[in-house]
Amino acid sequence: MVLVVSERELLKYDRQIMMPGWGEEGQEKLKRARVVVAGLGGLGTPAVTYLAVAGVGRIRIIDDGTVEIGNLNRQILYSENDLGRKKVDVARERLESLNADIEVEAIGEVITAENVSELVSDYLIVDAMDNLPARYLLNAVALERRLPLFHGAVYGFEGRATTIIPGKTGCLRCLYQGVVPGKTTVVGVAPGVIGCIEAAEVIKYVLGMGELLCDRMLIYDGLAASFSEVRLRRNPQCDACQSAWSAAGQ
Ligand SMILES: [Zn+2]
Repeated sequence: MVLVVSERELLKYDRQIMMPGWGEEGQEKLKRARVVVAGLGGLGTPAVTYLAVAGVGRIRIIDDGTVEIGNLNRQILYSENDLGRKKVDVARERLESLNADIEVEAIGEVITAENVSELVSDYLIVDAMDNLPARYLLNAVALERRLPLFHGAVYGFEGRATTIIPGKTGCLRCLYQGVVPGKTTVVGVAPGVIGCIEAAEVIKYVLGMGELLCDRMLIYDGLAASFSEVRLRRNPQCDACQSAWSAAGQ
């Protein structure tokens, strides 16, 4: 399928197309890109917003929740008027009004071991979940399909992000074990920063620009107003990503 960027889109994306290494060709790559954003909370709402305005052509959003008053300190696609509505419905409307040149597919389901493969399909995966079991499901399908997984997590005024490329980097199971508690403190700016970093990683991956957060965990400390970085290495004991590495000839 050939997707040509229209005159209107050339105007819309002018400020990024003019960037060296981007151009009309880069914009076409974004238009052909398919990205699934799993979770439409504090991380997913800024991530998907910036993917939409950048011109990612097909975006699938997944969340089974409804908008609650306690979401509004960080989940920036929703307003006071949306309380009680399904998040995916509100988000799709907002994203389509932000950018009429993209397709947004809304799926109001819980991600389970049974449906994760179908929900992700062959899309690039933005992990914007708030719990490790769901993240592990995304990790498993990313490894199985050799799809990149853009991971972000937040706690309080802090956040972290890394980019997982099966066969090239470690996986989420190399990083995390077990299950962390569900409800944590979150100041909205933290997922705002990390969600934007996840979106930036997706854009760079699609365009083949810059350096990805591969084998690097970028850590944001909002209180200290600092970024730091931890070097990551694949855990040789990790069974989850072993076959991806074997297949890649590592
Ligand atoms: Zn692993």
